[in-house]
Amino acid sequence: MNTSNQNSGELSSPRVSDSSPVRSSAHVKLFIPGPTEVRPEILDAQTQWMIGHRMPECIDLVGQILPKLSQVFFTKQTVLISASSGTGLWEAAVRNCVGKKVLTCVNGAFASRFSDVAEMNGKAIEILEVPWGQPILPGQVVERLSSGEFDAVTVVHNETSTGVTSPIQEIAAAIRAMPGGQDIMILVDSVSGLGGAHIEMDAWDLDVLLASSQKAFALPPGISFCAVSDRAMAKAKTVPARGYYFDFISLAKSIAKNQTPATPAVSLLFALDRQLDDMLAEGMEQRFARHLAMRDRTLDYLRGKGFDIFAAKGYESPTVSCAANNLGIDISGLNKYLRAHGMIISNGYGDLKGKTFRIAHMGDTQPHELEELFAAMDGFLA
Ligand SMILES: *Cc1c(COP(=O)(O)O)cnc(C)c1O
Repeated sequence: MNTSNQNSGELSSPRVSDSSPVRSSAHVKLFIPGPTEVRPEILDAQTQWMIGHRMPECIDLVGQILPKLSQVFFTKQTVLISASSGTGLWEAAVRNCVGKKVLTCVNGAFASRFSDVAEMNGKAIEILEVPWGQPILPGQVVERLSSGEFDAVTVVHNETSTGVTSPIQEIAAAIRAMPGGQDIMILVDSVSGLGGAHIEMDAWDLDVLLASSQKAFALPPGISFCAVSDRAMAKAKTVPARGYYFDFISLAKSIAKNQTPATPAVSLLFALDRQLDDMLAEGMEQRFARHLAMRDRTLDYLRGKGFDIFAAKGYESPTVSCAANNLGIDISGLNKYLRAHGMIISNGYGDLKGKTFRIAHMGDTQPHELEELFAAMDGFLA
């Protein structure tokens, strides 16, 4: 029983629609970059009666989901749903699309792990590393690719460890303009971007674009999604040892029949179906605008308190803001204080712990909820 919520006066914001008898009353509102806050309606959508994945009900459900998911990815090409978190789709991307050598662009902890995954799957890699806090820029990528050794590149759209967004559209355009650039597989992690930060599969000419449920989609964790270009599908047919679970060819064959080769996470599909309706009802443009407005407000708040922003200017993420701890505050103490007010933010990631902290404004978080967070932070920082 969480009594702190009841003692926090106007700062507590109980869920009005949260009448479920099965949910505990302890609720810490998540301003962390995953899992993000999930609305009660979405939690409830998971509790529908179980169906078999070869039953017409499930085939209809997937059939209903796919066109909506395609809209969120801005694609007419193949969209896959995986019963894994996004990490699984890193493995899928490199196993299916790297035949020769992959250039892995590293500007933070997640980009570094994507690179590790390529290496651990036996792929030849070369790392393009820039300091954390910086974006990956088109010129850097093209320069390294020009040696001609590569048939793929990995890049993270929204680096969650540093709050940096890299200019994926410009990077992809620069690659495509190179001699041989049409054949390079552009493998993009937008795990914490897609659904909140603007990114488009087809118009930007990407090959694999992947995202997890528990970030800007504001769903519970456990499933992930990716769009795969026709070019990547053709490439996969030429790449040996694609493995079994993440083989694009077999996944595509099944999804064409609104199915998956193995059992999908059925309860999460119910939640996804409902959430996609709500995302599209809000409108993707409006969703992007809401995230940008929350980003701008968060940066203003942090600067107003005297914090520097860790991300390079002009590349600050729409979904997560990373403050430098130049004031030397006790970040664990701040979070302890916030918890007593029913909220939580994130300390810095890995080596940045204590040196930075992060506020997620991602998924279904609303501007007025951020104001509640800032009011609570004021109490601690005063
Ligand atoms: C969270 C995150 C991941 C890892 O995704 P999981 O769904 O936890 O496997 C990968 N990349 C980025 C940018 C992330 O934020």
